[in-house]
Amino acid sequence: MIDPLPSASLLTMAPLHLPGALATVHLDAVADNTRLFAERIPGRLMAVVKADGFGHGAVDVARTALLHGASWLGVTSLPEAFELRDAGLAAPVLSWLNPVDADFATAVRRNVDIAVADRAHLAAVVAAARQSGRRARVHLHLDTGMARDGAAPGDWASLCASARVHELRGDVRVVGVMGHLARAESAERRDDEGLSRFRTGLAVARRAGLRPELRHLAATSATLTDPRSHHDMVRVGAGLVGIDPSDTTTLAPALSLSAPVIGVRRVPAGTGVGYHHVHRTTRDTTLALIPVGYADGLPRSAAGQAEVWLAGRRRRLVGAISMDQSVVDMGDDPVRIGEEATVFGPAAPGSEALPPTIEEWATWAGTIPHEVVTGLGRRVDRLYRGNAVAVRPCAVGGDR
Ligand SMILES: *Cc1c(COP(=O)(O)O)cnc(C)c1O
Repeated sequence: MIDPLPSASLLTMAPLHLPGALATVHLDAVADNTRLFAERIPGRLMAVVKADGFGHGAVDVARTALLHGASWLGVTSLPEAFELRDAGLAAPVLSWLNPVDADFATAVRRNVDIAVADRAHLAAVVAAARQSGRRARVHLHLDTGMARDGAAPGDWASLCASARVHELRGDVRVVGVMGHLARAESAERRDDEGLSRFRTGLAVARRAGLRPELRHLAATSATLTDPRSHHDMVRVGAGLVGIDPSDTTTLAPALSLSAPVIGVRRVPAGTGVGYHHVHRTTRDTTLALIPVGYADGLPRSAAGQAEVWLAGRRRRLVGAISMDQSVVDMGDDPVRIGEEATVFGPAAPGSEALPPTIEEWATWAGTIPHEVVTGLGRRVDRLYRGNAVAVRPCAVGGDR
């Protein structure tokens, strides 16, 4: 006897050669966003490409940004800076958060600027400079209101004084003074207190005899909303990949995530789906399986609200998001094996599709878009589209 409703058997299974999840990086969007920022500021634009370019690929985002108006690159750690140098990028690079025993000698040798927030780091950088026989280029980092990295205001004057001593001895050159605003991540726009702490810090540096050519404070949000924060340079990361924490500006999203349907089954009402049966079907329905889960970057906490675009409309993900897979409720609509579900991303030009945005995913998961894009897993294939970037070993002449 054949069970007329094989609720537990897979009706169709994909052949094994189907591709898995695919992240498409839209470099033309990065180019558009870079131009928008470059046009809005009087000074220089640093493209912040930390965390692998916010999950978009540090080298490709960096190259694109440098071709469209950025002149500096910024990263958190030295290994991220060396990756850019290894790729042949010769533009100025600043690295701002390192342990005191980081490889500053290589940083000096490879012409990577180092942010310094305390005297222990300054001493380590000075030692590296002497060892390399070259001046280290440093940016003094003042905490402008986060009690995180950056020199505490009470230590700032002595840091500036020490840096000046080492500048006069020829060990370092203080190229910049930087701060970072506590509201950089949010839509709350003005940070008068952060601005005023920065101005005070600049005055202290000046009194110590320092003449940094680059004063830089603003990230994406302040760049878009508060020209008083622009100073000589702004450091923009999220904005280049289309994320606007200030919610004031339409930027071009630069990342899509898609995955093919690899299984389809018809199930009766009352079927428990996935781990713990957090979802139970309320009627007969068709379930489509996509091979993408929280290890690939879908926040597990978005389950219950999350949707994808599949077969012509938005569809609910049902049940828990697993490590490697998710289940889409198709209702009575047909779906083919191999059909692409768009998890998030901009619609293709000319298409009527309205896939979820990264911002929607962030809302569903109770987080910010930054966490969604930096969460892409390693097994997701990447495809770089648009603005085929010529490999240009960005020549930067003289003393910048
Ligand atoms: C991440 C970061 C930035 C860029 O911030 P966005 O809001 O992504 O533009 C700038 N400066 C510092 C110190 C950062 O850590």
